[in-house]
Amino acid sequence: MNELRYRQVHLDFHTSEYIPMVAQEFDAEKFAATLKKANIDSITCFARCHHGWLYYPSKKTPELIHPNLVNKNLLLEQIEACHKNNINVPIYTTVQWDGHVAETHPEWLCIDEKGEFINSQNVPKPHFYYTICLNSGYRQYFKDNLQDIIDVVGAENIDGFFMDILFKVDCNCEHCISKMKDLGFDPNVKQERIQYSTVMLDEFNLIVRISHPLQVGDG
Ligand SMILES: [Zn+2]
Repeated sequence: MNELRYRQVHLDFHTSEYIPMVAQEFDAEKFAATLKKANIDSITCFARCHHGWLYYPSKKTPELIHPNLVNKNLLLEQIEACHKNNINVPIYTTVQWDGHVAETHPEWLCIDEKGEFINSQNVPKPHFYYTICLNSGYRQYFKDNLQDIIDVVGAENIDGFFMDILFKVDCNCEHCISKMKDLGFDPNVKQERIQYSTVMLDEFNLIVRISHPLQVGDG
């Protein structure tokens, strides 16, 4: 097990498709040297952001690589340069917010009591805040992407994952209603829907950990 890191940076990197020339001037050596100078010994770098874009040379879904990412190996070069300097790089991936998924798979989104999508931040469009249901076909999408990250980065190069946006949701989608009934929760009672959400979240976490036992750790 790795020694506990004491100075961790979260390099937030949600980059819309309207931003040009992403990573055009990225210099891995300078990047690592700057971190080293600041005594950083762990930094979260991005595989997939809330827009749904990828920052590594995906094998399974190359169409999801950020369209203006000049250096397609950004994440790989960040990891390599940091590891040379004994800096950990937990890999960031979004879970329940993904603008591309919301746009292309509305059937995977959480539904509120009134049958509407759940805009968890009340931000006007365009946004990536429609909460995705982990009981939907998205579960497989997420697992496939996680496997793609592991395959491309290489398990031996992964220090852990930072899986962002996992929370209890009062979801009324058909999958959740049906599972609630199977498990004896009353889908007409808000408190029971929330209770069920906790059970479902635990199940999701367990499945992800079982599917990827060596690579999934605390980010
Ligand atoms: Zn649901």
